[in-house]
Amino acid sequence: MSVQVIDTIDELQARVASTRFLEKVVGLVPTMGALHAGHVGLIDRAVDDCDLVIVSLFINPTQFNQQDDFDRYPRIIEDDLAVCEKCGVDILFAPATEEMYTGQECTTVDVTNLTDHLCGPERPGHFRGVATVVVKLLNISRADRAYFGEKDAQQLAVIKRAVEDLNIPTEIVPVPTVREDDGLACSSRNQHLTVEDRKNATMLYRALVAAKDAIAMGEQNTEVVTRIACEYFKNQPRTRVEYFEIVDPSDMQPLKVIQGPVCVATAVWIGQTRLIDNILCCPDKRD
Ligand code: AMP
Repeated sequence: MSVQVIDTIDELQARVASTRFLEKVVGLVPTMGALHAGHVGLIDRAVDDCDLVIVSLFINPTQFNQQDDFDRYPRIIEDDLAVCEKCGVDILFAPATEEMYTGQECTTVDVTNLTDHLCGPERPGHFRGVATVVVKLLNISRADRAYFGEKDAQQLAVIKRAVEDLNIPTEIVPVPTVREDDGLACSSRNQHLTVEDRKNATMLYRALVAAKDAIAMGEQNTEVVTRIACEYFKNQPRTRVEYFEIVDPSDMQPLKVIQGPVCVATAVWIGQTRLIDNILCCPDKRD
């Protein structure tokens, strides 16, 4: 069966409502399009788990804090549709900005504390934009399950928190990060990298693995782990480390001492492109 493309909220809600009496499990995969293997990981999981799978494609202007980042975000809906066809998606929900925002809104979703570190300070308003649009998409679709990538660990934590705090009856399903063969996490932004920058971009994963190894070997001091990992960013002329932090995965607060599972997260500019990545680590566990 081919994918149904829907661009209005009313039509999506009518379509979902028509399946309700059949007790179908509805799954939502929110995306901004330019679908790649990382998105496919989420979609495949949703197709396996659910009876009706909706992929949303909405480049949400309110989560961009730089206009040129929004302007140059890849827009390739025909390719995205082909990916959805191949994966067995039922509905591609691709609303225009005016459909999602009338311009009269007075309500936003602010998740505090979890947004104080990592990407929060450098991207003011970003998580407000993300949390607000995700809550809107969950309410519009009434999905039973929604799928999010561990690649965006802070985003995942923010969404889990918002859903819990606001009693939204959707199960949030985390999906592991999909990587290229050399370890670089798949991202729509990778296509902005020059050939040389693309080669160098593996430094993020190599630094994260170095941190993971140090932690597995028993290093508990986050400063020491950070120093070891950040060696990988040294003498890289086109590289600027925005942050490299070791946080508690439940509340995204920085740690000084590692005593349990931690999330090691980094944001690095390579040339004009900002990449983020993270890795979950447990002391005494090396895989
Ligand atoms: P985006 O289109 O970048 O907003 O991403 C949509 C969803 O795909 C988010 O839940 C991301 O965390 C997830 N995602 C993006 N890249 C990856 C990846 N490499 N592995 C797993 N999930 C990803």
